[in-house]
Amino acid sequence: MRREGRNLVVAIDGPAGAGKSTVARQVSKDLGYIYIDTGAMYRALTVKALRQGIILSDEAALSRLAKETEIRLTYQDHTQAIIMDGEDVSVAIRTPQVSQNVSLVARVPGVRTEMVELQRRLAQKGGIVMDGRDIGTFVLPEAECKIFLTASARERAMRRARDLEASGYEVDIDELEKEIATRDRIDSTREMAPLQQASDAILIDTSDMSFNEVVDKIKEYIRQTQRNSFMGLE
Ligand code: C5P
Repeated sequence: MRREGRNLVVAIDGPAGAGKSTVARQVSKDLGYIYIDTGAMYRALTVKALRQGIILSDEAALSRLAKETEIRLTYQDHTQAIIMDGEDVSVAIRTPQVSQNVSLVARVPGVRTEMVELQRRLAQKGGIVMDGRDIGTFVLPEAECKIFLTASARERAMRRARDLEASGYEVDIDELEKEIATRDRIDSTREMAPLQQASDAILIDTSDMSFNEVVDKIKEYIRQTQRNSFMGLE
């Protein structure tokens, strides 16, 4: 795949709380790319499954639900909203209850098939930064820039705690660390498209890096890839 200028496809994967979404949002804003948050899609479906009282071990019911649910992303001034069956669920997808259950929904192959189809369609025109767990390995294996973002479990729990506290939730940091570890375990061991670093992804451990350092490093990597592709090196 060889594109020039602003139309690269950038995949950012990594475990929960590594800072993917804030970093991806900033990078896409700076480069004039579109940001696509795939975790939000699995979360939206989880909101619906919980509302309907679906047993989360019922794979057939979850696959059916994924087929009959319309999920869309909308953008205004670089702010993304996630719309499920016409309803804006951008706030509802961030509750602790959804975080605790989303991996159980996301591990179902029938659910993933539907979401991946939507994600690939959104990526078609390039000029996108997509973040998730399986973007570089499965959704967009042809992406020109692949980044695997990680940080220590404690640091990730602390970042999530700060986000939740800012939204008015009380948090127990040890509980949060356990919840993140459980989610990572389910995400990494599921059968279909588990969380793992793509062999051609660059690894960035953000534990001791500032937000701006991470954003700058990724932008430099993207620029370098653009230069190489322009000169026909890749
Ligand atoms: O990125 P975020 O933490 O919002 O993702 C929520 C959950 O959605 C993940 O823990 C994972 O179970 C699922 N997910 C996934 N594949 C993706 C993105 C998210 O399985 N590409």
